[in-house]
This record gives sequence, structure tokens and C-alpha cells, in this order.
Amino acid sequence: YVVNLCDIAPVESVRPLIDLPDSDPVFSPEIMELCRWLADYYCCSWGEALHSAIPAGISVRTRMMYRLCMDRVTSGRFTDRQRAVVAELNRRGPLSEKQLAKSVGPVALSNTLKALVGRGILEAEPVAAAPAVNALTETWVKIVERAVLSSGDLEVLQRRAPKQAAVYLDLLHGGVEQRAALACAKHETSATVLRQLASKGLVTLIEKDVYRTPDEVGAAGSSRKHALNPEQRAAYEAIVAELEANRFQTFLLQGITGSGKTEVYLQAIERALSLGKAAIILVPEISLTPQTVGRFKARYQTDVAVLHSGLGPGERYDEWRRAQRGEVRIVVGARSAVFAPLPNLGILVVDEEHDNSYKQNESPRYHARDVAIMRAKMNNAVCLLGSATPSVESYHNSQTGKSVRLELKRRAAAAELPRVEIIDMRVETRDIGVNVMLSRRLEEEIAARIKSGDQVLLLLNRRGFSPYVLCPSCGWVAECTDCNVSLTYHAQGSFLCCHYCGYRRESPQVCDACGFKPLLHLGTGTQKIEDYLLRSFPEARVERMDADTTSSKGAHAHILGRLAAGEIDILIGTQMIAKGHDYPGVTLVGVVNADTGLSFPDFRASETTFQLLTQVAGRAGRGDRPGLVLIQSYRPNHYAVQAAAKHDFAAFYEREMVTRESALYPPLRRMACIMVEGEDPEETYRTAIRIGKTARAKIEELGFAGIELLGPAPATLRRLKRKYRWSVGLLSKSTKRLNQLTRAVRDAFDASPDKGKCAVKVDLDPYGMM
Ligand code: ADP
Ligand code: ZN
Ligand code: ZN
Repeated sequence: YVVNLCDIAPVESVRPLIDLPDSDPVFSPEIMELCRWLADYYCCSWGEALHSAIPAGISVRTRMMYRLCMDRVTSGRFTDRQRAVVAELNRRGPLSEKQLAKSVGPVALSNTLKALVGRGILEAEPVAAAPAVNALTETWVKIVERAVLSSGDLEVLQRRAPKQAAVYLDLLHGGVEQRAALACAKHETSATVLRQLASKGLVTLIEKDVYRTPDEVGAAGSSRKHALNPEQRAAYEAIVAELEANRFQTFLLQGITGSGKTEVYLQAIERALSLGKAAIILVPEISLTPQTVGRFKARYQTDVAVLHSGLGPGERYDEWRRAQRGEVRIVVGARSAVFAPLPNLGILVVDEEHDNSYKQNESPRYHARDVAIMRAKMNNAVCLLGSATPSVESYHNSQTGKSVRLELKRRAAAAELPRVEIIDMRVETRDIGVNVMLSRRLEEEIAARIKSGDQVLLLLNRRGFSPYVLCPSCGWVAECTDCNVSLTYHAQGSFLCCHYCGYRRESPQVCDACGFKPLLHLGTGTQKIEDYLLRSFPEARVERMDADTTSSKGAHAHILGRLAAGEIDILIGTQMIAKGHDYPGVTLVGVVNADTGLSFPDFRASETTFQLLTQVAGRAGRGDRPGLVLIQSYRPNHYAVQAAAKHDFAAFYEREMVTRESALYPPLRRMACIMVEGEDPEETYRTAIRIGKTARAKIEELGFAGIELLGPAPATLRRLKRKYRWSVGLLSKSTKRLNQLTRAVRDAFDASPDKGKCAVKVDLDPYGMM
């Protein structure tokens, strides 16, 4: 990316410019500055940061073409491979590596080419390939106004070329310009006729930009505007005051599900628009929150562009361009929409700010919420974070004065919060036996809803049939050959599958190790529950919503649409069903196992569980009938389960902070993770140890005594996709020092002979399992 011009290059090796493909700048100075910050903060290159700020596919890719330097060919000795390459280039002229591989075979080709280039026999020249995505244009035909035919000339034309005359007359009388395709269709003719008219100087053919319009997402939203209730009004006024004063401010809008947060967003945005400012709304996953998007579309119509991964690359590019050109003033989108190129930004809303999907899992590993806050700061704009269950970080920020907390305590539309009961599964186990899936109480309540025609949501955050296949004779467990995890049994299609790398094998009938049968399918996934429900409630219409049933485009919308239409009695699903839906027919929510996430070796395990339980509990009873939530748990006294049952964020936070304080985990300190990955276990181990040593040495060298070093230790997933993994954790109160140290360690690795043997990945504010 060309970001600046200078006479003397600040780096040693510069590459030639072969073309300037863009007529307009792709990046505004604002986005460049934002990406600069992002690169610094997340320890990636500026280029990487810029790359993530534009739609995929619009970057120009270069590839190397190899050309023979004729004068050198006669001299020197060649290996067979080299001779083959030289002969091929001699015969066919410049070729890319890919083309060469087709004719001479791919074996050792890279090295052969490198050697030949090194000896000056070949020259490598970068050539620009067209980007995968381009602006789409459409040909229009337009009459040339000065060239009106005299009646005599027109008669001649009508006689000799009636089609041309017809098109011409139509344009003359019927509106000056037309889409070429339409003109042709109307007169049953081809583009040749248009070209002939153009060569006579009667019309011109022009190329107009067109936008590919994505399918409507959540078009069903209601545009009804509500008069704000007192709590909403107080929040609104606080936000608008900053907006009007052009002051940067972060707000945390904490409001239980259904308290009317979205209405506050909508009206704050309306105020921003009336001040001539633009707005970005981030939502976790569009396919799961179609109603939210629908409400924005319904209220603001054509003023909204939607950016999300469900769009085709062309559609996404076009939505992005509409924003860049200022043709829309509101962008709604998932994570990467935080970079939407809207000029004059006034407000950034991050809905469900606690959601982990805002964190990108690949480099640059940015967190869209934090980028949004920084972008608001750079624009003297407002950043509005909304959630029923704020992240511990965001709540902490509101406690320490970094943001202003606004609270909505009551549901906006009269509906009451559902009653929540915890069911102690240890008691069920004692009374009915092990492997109970549904407690007596939950089963009774389901039966009652089916009788009364109400709907049921069941949450089980584990897909597949069962997560373990075990041999009861020798203890063998089916594991992935590439990862250090057990394979999940999928009954539909009867296969075992690794949920980390996608590896599949046919489900074995007998033990791989000793040949014993039958094998045991332990643990419960969504398919097992579905299976059970179908047998227990044969009259009920049961559906499942998880990654397996929603892989095709539009599958989410289809299932949710059927739920809304009352065509589903019981919907069982993973955490997907916990997000933003509002289905008045649902009066019972059951959590099959509240504890699945609690034992993850992650300091956020309790937080994630609390959020999930609270969110799913909010799905019950949003209509006029009261809701009931039943949470099954083997750890009913765990504070995350207890607080979720009481919808009590404050209680959860207080107890959670005690845990975080004991080890000074985030948000009390910032964390960085350096992950070492390699296929060779020894090599990976040694590299990790060296990285640890480097880190220790740098801490000393830079005088950063306050930084704590964890590890190197095997990562939670010791082996993933064939790679052994070790992690080094760093904890510091100073973000600046943490960044500086992380960068120093990474740079030292890049400059060491270890580079290339293992991959070293740096993650600031890491999420999930390390
Ligand atoms: P949240 O985003 O906090 O979950 P919503 O904004 O979706 O809450 O509001 C929940 C429901 O209450 C919606 O159906 C919405 O139309 C309605 N609602 C919001 N604000 C008001 C209000 N001031 N008066 C009446 N109904 C409201
Ligand atoms: Zn066995
Ligand atoms: Zn695997």
C-alpha cells in the first residue's frame, strides 16, 4: 500500500512500483492512522492492519514471472532440473512458477528457480494480477444532444437501418439515456446496433458504476419509534450531550434483555445524523441477529449499508464503496465493519459488547470493541457499548472512570423477566441414575408446553451426538490424529469428527486398539438430545440449530423463521440460540448442562458461562405469557450459575473480581500470549524455552521488573492441526511496556536462526484457550 512518498527510502530493500491500480485512494488519513495504532497495539505490521481494514479481494496481488537472461544461458553447468526449467523458458518465454510447475513438475521447483536467479540466469519480475473483486459497471446508451438528425436523414436511416432508427427515436423521445441491455431487449437487437449508432456520432456508450445489492437481511424489522421511558431518556440525554459537544466519550449501556437498548441506539443515531454525522453499529454475528439489522434497515432505509461475512465478495465491496463515497451514513456490520470508511463519524455502537466474536482469531488479533473505542477517540466521537452482561473489562472501565455507565433496569415493553430455577443434577443422578439428560422437572415442563402449544428452547453448548468414544475393555479413546483432543461421534452420517481441525473418519464398530465391541458413546451433544426428544415426544416438532444444521447460506434465517411462524415446538441448539432473538411464543428455556464451559482452563470460564446463561434466560417470556427458565447443573452453587439465575450482574462481578484479584488477571493487568507452534515436538519445545529466556532477558534489559512471565508451558491444546504448541504468557499493569516487551521478543525471534523452524504468534489481550 502506498501510504506516503519520500525521496530517500527509510528501508534497505525497496520494490519497484509496477502499476497504480486505484484511481482514488483506498484509505483515508483517518483509517491509516487507526491502522497505525492497531499495528502498534497488536504487534503486527502496518500493512497487515491496513489489509484487514478493506474488503477481501480488492487488493492487487502480485506474482513472479521468470524470464531467461539470454546472454548467460551458454555459460555454466546445470542440474537436470535446472536444464529442464531453462529449456522450458527458452521455448515458451516468461512463465510463472505455477505455469512452470505444470510443465516441468513441482518437485524442488522453488529451490531450482532460486538457484537460477541467484546465478543471474533467470530474472524474476513481479507482475500485478487483477484483484479478485472489481467494481461492476454497466453500459448505458445516451443520445448525443447536438447531433439531432434532420427529418431527411432520419428517413434514410429508417429505410437502411430500421433497428438503429428505432433505438435512436426511442432515446430521443423517451428519456435520453437507457441501459444498453434494456435498449437491446426492447428492440430485439444486439449491441452491434448501438455501436453503429455510436460510430455515427448519434449516441455515446458510457460505463456506469452499479452496486450489487445483497439479499435483504432481516427485512422484517419494525420501524416503529417509541417514546423513550425515563431510564432510556436519561441514557439518551447523556449520550447526546457528548455528541453535540463533539467530545470523545465511551458509554457502557447496561440493560437487561428487552430493556430497550436498541431503541436508545436508534434515537442516538438519529440525533447524530441530524448533526450531519455518520454512525457505525457493530453486531456480533449478523446471521444470528437478523432482527437487530432489520430494525436499522426499517428505520433508516437506504441510508444503511450492511457488511458481514454472509455477503459475496462483490456485494461486500459495493456496500463498502457506498460508505466510502458517503452515499450511506450508517453502516451495520460484524467485526470488520469497525473499519467502515464513513467520513465524519459521530457515533460507534457496539451491541452485545461482551461477545467474543469481536476478537479476531488470526493476525491481526484485534478486538473490534477496543478498536471502536480508539476510533471514537480519534474522531471526537461517542462510543456506545451495550450489553445485558457487560464484559468484566468494560464494567471495570466504568468503575475506574474510563467510561460512563448508563443503566436500564426494567424491561421496556411491560413483559416481566422470567423466573429462573436451578435444578441440582446431582439429586437427579442419585434418584434416577447416571447419564440423565433431562431432569424430571424439565421433562414435565416440556410436556406441558407441548400440550399448551407454547414453544421451548433448549440450550446445550456441544454439537454432535457424544463427545467421547471409549472402549470399555481397554480404555482406548478415539482421538484426532492431528490434534490432542477426542473425536466427537456424529450419529447423522455415522462418523467421528474433530471439532478443532475438521478431521473425519467413519465411526468404528470395534476398538482400534483391542478389537472389543460395542464401544461406548459417552457424554451428550445436541444430536443425542434431539434423538431423545424425538422418542419421548413423538408428537412434537423438534429442530436442531448448531454448526452442523446451519452450514448452508440462509439456514439460520430459515430455522428462526420457522420458529417465529410457530412451526417448531422444541428448538435445541448451541450458544447460537442464546443470541438476540425475540420470539414471543417461547415460554420455556431449558439449559441442559450449565457446566460445560465452567471447567475450561481459562480465566474467563466463569464469565463466559454467566453471560451465556443470562443471555439464554432472557429468551423466555418476551410475549404476554410469563417465562420460565430451568438451568440444570452439577455445580448449582457456583456463583456464575447462581448470579445468572438471579439476573444479577453486580453479584457476579463482585465475586468474579475476587478471583481475578487473586492472580491479578485482566482487567487488573493486561495480558499477552506468545504462542510457539511447530510440527517437530523437540524443535518446538526448544524454541519455546529460548523465547522464554529471551523474554526474561528483555525484562531485565528494559528494566520492566513489574512484568510477570508465565511459562513456557504446553498450551491447553497441546497439539492442534499437527502442530505442537507451547505458550508464554506475559502480564503487566502497563500496556505500553507489555507491547514494547512483546514486540522486542518477537523481533528477537525474527532475527534469530530459529525463525522459519517454528511459527511464533503474538496475541495481545488473548481470548479463549491459550
Ligand atoms: P434490548 O435491545 O435491550 O434487548 P429492545 O430495544 O429490543 O431491547 O426493546 C425490547 C422491546 O421493547 C422491543 O420490542 C421494543 O420495540 C420495545 N421498546 C423499546 N423501547 C420502548 C419504549 N420506550 N416503550 C415501549 N416499548 C419499547
Ligand atoms: Zn479396546
Ligand atoms: Zn483435529
